[in-house]
Amino acid sequence: MNEYKIFINGNFIEGNGGMGEVINPHDNKVIAKYYIASKEDVDLAVKSARQGFEKWRNTPINKRIRILQNLSKLLQENVDKIAEIESLNVGKPINASKGEILAGINVLDFYIGAINKIMGETIPTLPGLFNYTIREPIGVCALIVPWNYPFMLTMWKISPALACGNSVIIKPASWTPLTAIELAKLCKEAGIPDGVVNVITGPGNTIGSYLVSHEGVDKISFTGETKTGSEIMKLASNTVKRISLELGGKSANIVFEDADIDEAVNGSIWGIFYNSGQSCEARSRLFVQKNIYDKFLSAFLEKTKKIKIGNPILKETQMGPIITRTHLNNVHSIVERGIEEGAKVVYGAKKIETEDLKDGNYYLPTILELESTNNTCFKEEIFGPVVVIMPFETEEEVIELANDSKYGLAGTIWTRDVKRAIRVSSSIRAGSITVNHPLTAIPGLPFGGYKQSGFGRELSLDAIDLFTEKKSVIYKYDENPFNPWNL
Ligand code: NAD
Repeated sequence: MNEYKIFINGNFIEGNGGMGEVINPHDNKVIAKYYIASKEDVDLAVKSARQGFEKWRNTPINKRIRILQNLSKLLQENVDKIAEIESLNVGKPINASKGEILAGINVLDFYIGAINKIMGETIPTLPGLFNYTIREPIGVCALIVPWNYPFMLTMWKISPALACGNSVIIKPASWTPLTAIELAKLCKEAGIPDGVVNVITGPGNTIGSYLVSHEGVDKISFTGETKTGSEIMKLASNTVKRISLELGGKSANIVFEDADIDEAVNGSIWGIFYNSGQSCEARSRLFVQKNIYDKFLSAFLEKTKKIKIGNPILKETQMGPIITRTHLNNVHSIVERGIEEGAKVVYGAKKIETEDLKDGNYYLPTILELESTNNTCFKEEIFGPVVVIMPFETEEEVIELANDSKYGLAGTIWTRDVKRAIRVSSSIRAGSITVNHPLTAIPGLPFGGYKQSGFGRELSLDAIDLFTEKKSVIYKYDENPFNPWNL
């Protein structure tokens, strides 16, 4: 059985907080064990990252570029291996894992390309004074990652953090620590100096809290639940840390009567059921215009039934299990509450208990029809393969429905009417709106939330702002001596 160690100051060491097990959600068998960090290990990681920061910020940018290019190359050589680990650990279909590992590498490549373009400005100012600004790294960044896209989201954070000259401490989710540790191995091989990248594992409410409260940490980049993000804001406030938060979602998917129905059906199915619905930007609230509603729903149902559910390691699998038994039970209990509150089951709402899948955490893709928004399944982020569907009549009505959420991460509009697409996309309060397709996470394009979906934008050049401080340098070139008090 593979044992994974924590990574501090360039060494893989046994954490002092005990050991955890990593489970395959396909059959609930243990696939690996990992050492858990103690608070003393966190102290060590912070000390190491503080030293690493001094090394990395002073590494000439051309050398930084070369080292990160080495990392990109090593990652490309290891796509299959990392993808397999991700599939075994998260239950992602192998093709999806491969796509996500490659997407993570693309993000690294994007920020490598940005390193020598992180520029300052010269701003006109008072007579006799001359100003320039420079961007400097913030320091030690704690990168806290959820379990749904463990490798890819680590890459979203580590790439801009390192590109800007920071050092990092990665804390993966306890359910999915493996690919962050695999990444650490390749960081070492690529020549990233010791201490620049550290990985510690452990429960969020002990090790995570300790890390985000630590005096030696300057910046927190967090992705996870809104509730956790709010707790982290409080913990970070004592030492006024810089924070960026990518949080939960309950995104709207709007199909207008003039849409290409077939494409809208395919895109809406992928938009909710990709990664078994365990995506922050999952289009989990589906609104369909009244006069195409019946036609749309019957095609949506027929095609949902065709999704190939099964062992993630098989190439033909399109939807895998839910991450853990506990989470499977959570999903099911929210669905049951929704049904008690009036939701009508169009499909699913059941665990899959066929002979080949009964040991895993499999749930049928679930379609719930709602008459009222006053339903838990309309309001809460379920984070499973569950979509609610409702008809609407007018543009004004659907805009109101789409905005009726505490979240504001993403939204999709299906229409052939360009003017309508522009009107509706400007009326929805969310960070990413897609028209006639559901893809939001694209390197180079800003990704992040409005409202309780968080703040800060990742994936784009905006992330340079999240990982740098701006310094203003003001020179006096005026020949007259500076003596305002005539001393
Ligand atoms: P979570 O909030 O439970 O945990 C996320 C990470 O935070 C884990 O590493 C966890 O150990 C750590 N953590 C928990 N409590 C902590 C604390 N008090 N201090 C410091 N760290 C702590 O989230 P999850 O269940 O792993 O992930 C699912 C959630 O993530 C969903 O709400 C989803 O929408 C959200 N998410 C958002 C985005 C986005 O970009 N907006 C992307 C993916 C997932």
